[in-house]
Amino acid sequence: MKAIDVFEASLEAFPGGVNSPVRAFRAVGGTPVIATAGLGAYVTDADGRRFVDYVGSWGALILGHAAPQVVSAVGEAAARGTTFGMPTPRELELARLIRDAVPSMTRMRFVSSGTEAAMSAIRVARGFTGRAKIVAFAGGYHGHADSLLAKAGSGLATLGLPASAGVTPGAVADTIVLPYNDASAVRAAFAAGGREVAAVIVEPVAANMGVIVPVPGFLPALREVTSAYGSLLIFDEVITGFRLARGGAQERFGIVPDLTCLGKIAGGGMPLAVYGGRADVMSVLAPLGPVYQAGTLSGNPVAVAAGSATLRALTPELYHRLERLGARLEAGLREAALAAGCRCSIVRIASLVTVFFTAEPPRDYTAASGADLARFRRFFHAMLERGILLPPSQFESWFLSAAHGEHEIDRTVAAAREAFAEAGQ
Ligand code: PLP
Repeated sequence: MKAIDVFEASLEAFPGGVNSPVRAFRAVGGTPVIATAGLGAYVTDADGRRFVDYVGSWGALILGHAAPQVVSAVGEAAARGTTFGMPTPRELELARLIRDAVPSMTRMRFVSSGTEAAMSAIRVARGFTGRAKIVAFAGGYHGHADSLLAKAGSGLATLGLPASAGVTPGAVADTIVLPYNDASAVRAAFAAGGREVAAVIVEPVAANMGVIVPVPGFLPALREVTSAYGSLLIFDEVITGFRLARGGAQERFGIVPDLTCLGKIAGGGMPLAVYGGRADVMSVLAPLGPVYQAGTLSGNPVAVAAGSATLRALTPELYHRLERLGARLEAGLREAALAAGCRCSIVRIASLVTVFFTAEPPRDYTAASGADLARFRRFFHAMLERGILLPPSQFESWFLSAAHGEHEIDRTVAAAREAFAEAGQ
């Protein structure tokens, strides 16, 4: 079946033809890329076109597509049984790898998606503190649990939705949404009612409104204020975990949160996510304590095997390589934008990149929302025509993998030279 036929038939099977909204290309127009295979840095579509892939399954594939060690771990695990609903040695092995990388996660629990991880971390924080309110940041994304869909980023930003229908006012009544990077707004909110706040949940580097780096002092202020008021600090490292460093953003910025959410890379491209942190906090979970959370497929042995194979590959050399490639891409994009006279801001940290069509690198969601989306759309399609597949939204990160090389980066930069010119000023 040709790509267009698959998509048209999919429209009859799935709302909008997709199983997750951003895949639908609504923000950029046109027909989504219908993937049939991935290898290394490349994705092949149903028409046999091959793209350098910067979607990377939205950050999961730090080793690239079909990394041999992951494929063989998955095959070997599946041959021994795809699910048991019982504890397994494999899940312990992954937990030890995670704890070795992220020492603040002294106790953890495996779930099947980042949504579940964030939702459960919030429940644990409320159960532990006996408080109801949570603080989140506009343009952050922590999955699609009701209480976390207020002014969220990712697909809601892409589709221009301030909130989701179907979420009752009651479900978000205890969610306080503040501007990212604004420590004084956090201090003011805590001064007004900090003793009612169970937790602050934050993407330590925001990556769901495009990539926005924390200004110096912002993360330390969150740590200080939450500690002062007996609230918990939750780092949602579903994207930044194992990406900014082996120990995630908490290693990179030297801040120890009370709870951490992981996903994507932790499952090596399989459905797995994790939440965990302080032992006293996690002890509120059933069967030890009164907070209930469970899952038929939690700690699934095949997903766990993929996660362990991935984490074992995360050497210091791999992070040096990603940094080198990231720097090369950043420098190339800057030079290309300058040559084309294109007004835009290139934001990069580690292997996360966003080209914002804004005059300045945004500091928060309001600034990111001011991006010129028409120019982004033209740029996106100009890149796609040249075989470079970017996330189809201004408000998402590009993801580099260890399978990308100088050849792919240089091809990307060469395409960007023309694409910036086509996007216009
Ligand atoms: N938290 C962050 C920071 C994310 O980026 C995402 C997804 O992109 C989630 C949570 C939700 O994860 P999932 O899509 O696996 O439910």
